[in-house]
Amino acid sequence: MSLSKNSLCRACKKSVLQQWFSLGNQPPANALLKAPMSEENFYPLTLYKCEKCGLVQLIDVVDQQELFSNYVYYSSTSSSFREHFRKFAKQAFDKKLLVEGQLVIDVGSNDGILLKPFKELGANVLGIEPVEKIAKQAILEGIPTIAAWLSPSIAKNIIAQPMAVEEPSSRDKNKATLVTATNVFAHINDADMVFSSVQEMLAPWGTFIIEVPYFWQMIQDNTFDLIYHEHLSYFSLSDIVFLAERNGFSTIDVEMVPVHGGSIRVYMRPGLDFEPSSAVGNMLQKEICLAQTGSMQAFVANVEKNKHVLVTLLQDLKRTGKRIVGYGAPAKMSTLTNYFGIDDKVVDYIVDDAIAKQNLFSPGMHIPIRSPVILCTDDPEYILIFAWNFKEDIMKRCRGLGFSGKFIIPLPGVEIK
Ligand SMILES: [Zn+2]
Repeated sequence: MSLSKNSLCRACKKSVLQQWFSLGNQPPANALLKAPMSEENFYPLTLYKCEKCGLVQLIDVVDQQELFSNYVYYSSTSSSFREHFRKFAKQAFDKKLLVEGQLVIDVGSNDGILLKPFKELGANVLGIEPVEKIAKQAILEGIPTIAAWLSPSIAKNIIAQPMAVEEPSSRDKNKATLVTATNVFAHINDADMVFSSVQEMLAPWGTFIIEVPYFWQMIQDNTFDLIYHEHLSYFSLSDIVFLAERNGFSTIDVEMVPVHGGSIRVYMRPGLDFEPSSAVGNMLQKEICLAQTGSMQAFVANVEKNKHVLVTLLQDLKRTGKRIVGYGAPAKMSTLTNYFGIDDKVVDYIVDDAIAKQNLFSPGMHIPIRSPVILCTDDPEYILIFAWNFKEDIMKRCRGLGFSGKFIIPLPGVEIK
């Protein structure tokens, strides 16, 4: 077992954590299996809410080495993500947050999906990516990347070593004008460590930009499948503002972005004397209203209702001899199949475009994962879309492969198309 338990809130460090919603014991969502009989670890997947500051969080923390050592997720596999990050980079230039030749450091840079467009637009780039295999891939594709876990000492070293990036002479005193962290902030147990590392790397005039799945979007859309062990914190904007301020950063702007079921992109600057935009004030106000209307209680009831509707539908289809396969084996597939009890007796197999996932088995429920090419010769009656955030792309792709049946979209509400 490589599990530790936090006794204090990750944000305010008080011990007033109340259990809110439990999904029972689950295997790590990205731990795909080589064989269905492989040994698996199960850990509690339970959300707690801090009574003091409001942060919703897991307190059972699975060791990062266990969660990420076999990580096979390459961001660039998804064309929607590529487009999202291309726009991200262009917008940073349009907002004049940097100019050509300045340095962008991306924390949790994966295969360089965000840094590639920054580089194309003329920035110097450097990635920090803990999974060595993925870091190597980024380097092969021309993105300088340090294979390491983020820490203040790693951050300090990076800045002290001009060899680490291309054209060191053109950088501003070795420090980054932009530090970005997309979809990583929620994964890190020690949030203060992230800020102190960023302090080391970011120029005093620079901007720190993060993207995190937005807690209130998950609540409004019933997307409980965003809950898995890698996601330790479920951030409201108010949580980010609080953490930033405690670490000497001002939150200057925020916007909603359509990834991971609805995320917020938050802009921060080192120093406490910057005024927030009206967007920050408006979102904070809206969060106060949402917290007062009982929407968190409604969410739990909606998840149970969704479970009943989907499981009943799948059982009815199986009873009448229909065949169902799944599309997409992201982490959210694991949460949904394990919490709803959807196994290989219900879903024959799952197809996924990522070659690294093919010929493996889903965690806990042991559903085999295949290449989508199988749909050229096999024509099941139904495809259950686990990667529902890409449903439009997936439906087009399936039709292109010759699929003539119907699609089931499990969330936000069960839908047949
Ligand atoms: Zn707290």
